[in-house]
Order: sequence, then C-alpha cells, then structure tokens
Amino acid sequence: MANIIALVGRPNVGKSTLFNRLLQKREAIVDSVAGVTRDRHYGKSDWNGVDFSVIDTGGYIVGSEDVFEEEIRKQVELAIEEASAIVFLVDVTEGITEMDQEVSSLLRRTDKPVFLVVNKVDNAMLENDAMEFYSLGFDKYYTISGMTGSGTGDLLDDIIPTFKEIEYVDPFEGLPKITIAGRPNVGKSTLTNALLENDRNIVTDIAGTTRDSIETLYDKFGYKFVLIDTAGMRKKNRVSEDLEFYSVMRSIRSIEDSDIVILMTDATQGWEKQDMNILHLAQKSRKGIVIVVNKWDLVEKETNTLKQYENYIREKLAPFSDVPIIFTSAITKQRVFKTVETAMKVFENRARRVKTSQLNEIMLPIIESTPPPSIKGKYIKIKYCTQLPTKTPQFAFFANLPQYIKEPYKRFVENKLRQHFDFTGVPIEVYFRQK
Ligand code: GDP
Ligand code: GDP
Repeated sequence: MANIIALVGRPNVGKSTLFNRLLQKREAIVDSVAGVTRDRHYGKSDWNGVDFSVIDTGGYIVGSEDVFEEEIRKQVELAIEEASAIVFLVDVTEGITEMDQEVSSLLRRTDKPVFLVVNKVDNAMLENDAMEFYSLGFDKYYTISGMTGSGTGDLLDDIIPTFKEIEYVDPFEGLPKITIAGRPNVGKSTLTNALLENDRNIVTDIAGTTRDSIETLYDKFGYKFVLIDTAGMRKKNRVSEDLEFYSVMRSIRSIEDSDIVILMTDATQGWEKQDMNILHLAQKSRKGIVIVVNKWDLVEKETNTLKQYENYIREKLAPFSDVPIIFTSAITKQRVFKTVETAMKVFENRARRVKTSQLNEIMLPIIESTPPPSIKGKYIKIKYCTQLPTKTPQFAFFANLPQYIKEPYKRFVENKLRQHFDFTGVPIEVYFRQK
C-alpha cells in the first residue's frame, strides 16, 4: 500500500518547513513546473519503521487572487484523491483566515483521515491561542512547531496507524507487479493497450476503494504478471498545467505498489528532469527498473543512432547505469514483448539470493587484492560478507574499521558485485559493518 501524507494549507502556514522536518535531511524531489512560483516537493521518510511519502502540494501559479484560490482548491482536491492522510496546516500567529475556512470546507467532503495541525506553536504560551481553531469543526487539533519539530512526533504517532486500518486483500498476491511510469504523452497508455489487447475482461477496477490503481493480469506467452495502471493514464481530463504534477502523484502511488517500474521516455524529447525524478523515486523505493525509449519510429536513424542514444542515457543514469534500456515503438509494437521479457528478468534479478559461501569465494579475493585505502596508518580489513535476508538485494561486509570506508570503495564493491552476479536493473545496497 502506498502511504502518502499530503500537506495542504494556504501559503506561509509552514508547509515546506514541516515538509523538511518530516524528511529529516533526506533528499526531496523537486518538481518544477513552468509558471509556478514555488516548486512542489515530495520525498520518502519513515516513522517507527513504517515508510511513507510526503507531498508538499503547495505550488502556486502567479496571478490574481482568483487564480490563487483556484490553485488552492486544486491542491486540496489532489490531496483528497491521492493521499492516504491529509495534514491541514494552519498558523497560530495569524488565527483563522477566510482561506482556512474554505480549505476546511473542501476537506469536509473526504472520508480520508484529515489532521488539523496548528503550526508555529513555538512555546507553551501559544497553546491557548490555538483553541480558536476548534471552531473549524474538527474533533481534534494538533499543535506543532515545524521550526523546532515539537509536536511532530505525536502527530506522526497518530497518522501512521491510519495507514494500517486500510485493509486490502491482494487478489494477485505473489505475482510480479509492474508499472509503466513516465511523463504525459510519452506513450504509456499506448504500450498498456498493446500489451493488454483482448485482456480487458480481467481488469479489476478497484477505483474508489482503498486503491485507485487499475490492476490487470497479464497471462500470455509464458509470462504472468500484474500491470498496475494508474487511473490517471486513462482518465485524462486534467487541466494542462497540472497534468504533469498529477501524473507524478499517480506515479508515486503506482511505483510504491509495484516491484518493477518501466520508466518510459520519448525518443524525440530526450532525457528530462522529470524522468530523473521518477528514476530517483523508483531507485529510492528499491524497485526494479527498465528504461524504455518510446516513439523510436519517429527518430531518423543512421548506423550508430541507437548506440549513441543509449550511451547518452547511460551517462544521465550514472552511477546507476546497470539498467536495461529498450527502444520501442508502442504504436507499431516494435520490441513491446522484449520489454515484458526484460521486466521479468529484472524481477528475477531483484529476488536473487547469493549464497554466503559463493559470495565470499568471489568477493574476498577481490577485496584482498584491492583493499580499502588505509587511513592514518590504519589498515582496514574486510573479513566476511553476506547478503542480508531482505526483500531486495542488500549486502553487509564486516570490517575492523567500517567507519573509514568511503563512498568510492563502496561503489567499487557494488560494481564488482554487479560484474559477478546479475543485478541488472536492480538498486542494491552495500553496508560496511563492525565485525
Ligand atoms: P508554506 O508557504 O506553507 O510552505 O510556508 P513556509 O514553510 O515557507 O513557512 C512560511 C514562514 O513561516 C517562513 O518564514 C517560516 O520560517 C515560518 N515558519 C514555518 N514554521 C514555523 C514555526 O513552527 N514557527 C515559526 N515561528 N515560524 C515558522
Ligand atoms: P501517455 O500519456 O504516456 O499515456 O501517452 P499516450 O499513450 O496517450 O500517447 C501519447 C501520443 O503519442 C498519442 O498520440 C500516441 O498515439 C502517440 N504515441 C504513443 N506511442 C507512440 C510510438 O511509439 N510512436 C509514435 N509515433 N507515436 C506514439
């Protein structure tokens, strides 16, 4: 299940401050949309072992007051549609404003959990002032200071259990789950239709319930998997300036529900920032990744065009360049089946378990001949390694002085692992630990 917290509220109540606080220095993904005064952000975090995404929905269009209010309305609607829990932020120093009242009436229409949060309560004196927010009609409010972080723990303690209340029985338990993600108009629906033609009868549309994705069982040519199609792909009635962000929100959700992400780009447009955002999101969520460069039929080709384009993308992907890249035409169905085969291979790679004995047999001699550089005359010795019993590939290397092992060596080890074991398309983690 995708656990998504959306932050809504009028400008300056402290959404982005709280966002940063919730992310705790983790890297946010910035979504710049032309014409918007402020970027929108999303990122992943966790609390007591539960992972969740946070979305700061507050990006605004420059313009008149009317446009402004329209933007906030859209922002709230987006949150209602996409989030699992909504944090409605207000500002104790300003009191209740007309816009707060509007937001609160919009939020009254949802069944999703809404948390009224009074921000900027930096000291106990301000606690009393917060009482006026009772009149917004919520059963309860939380007082926090996004700036100092006080109160945010209690808030998360109450938000997290609402994720778990959502019961969902997965009719496709155990089958690989694949999503096709990408910017609008790259050809996601066309590929989906190419794959699923004649399969419409087995669509399970669970829209409106706990899941908004449409899941379709693909069971042909010896392959069986579930395609997680975001409703947004088929329902394209969004206002244009929001389409991009809307599709990104959809992507977040379906990426979290999937094992494999087919990241589709448009050959005629090149690799853009938004593609990078989706890649990072998939990578951070430790999903398997296949890159598809679609509309290849539109590209004028010379002898080396494909190779050159592939190199161009691999450079963009670095250091995570051990990823399959496929050139397709969803319209003519060129390499559509190859895409399926590759995604299934990546699924296999993601589930790969290397026996400890085999791992040590291969990795220890490599480490012995190229050990981590010694630091201040101290020799770093790695004695043993093992793959951790996690769902996705993670490796622990046990050393006498793990704290001295630096990023470049970690990358060296990762590359060696990739050379000897097939983890193509799969983000892997390497940890150095005290033996
Ligand atoms: P947003 O427009 O809702 O994202 O609001 P920002 O996060 O940009 O914050 C608006 C202003 O309020 C900034 O000047 C912040 O420093 C300030 N601010 C945010 N949180 C707090 C808080 O908890 N206490 C105080 N005193 N100021 C805050
Ligand atoms: P989505 O927004 O990513 O789902 O994109 P669509 O599947 O709706 O495709 C957007 C447009 O690109 C449509 O007009 C498609 O017909 C066209 N299109 C999709 N795939 C291809 C392709 O491989 N080659 C060409 N030439 N056009 C394509």
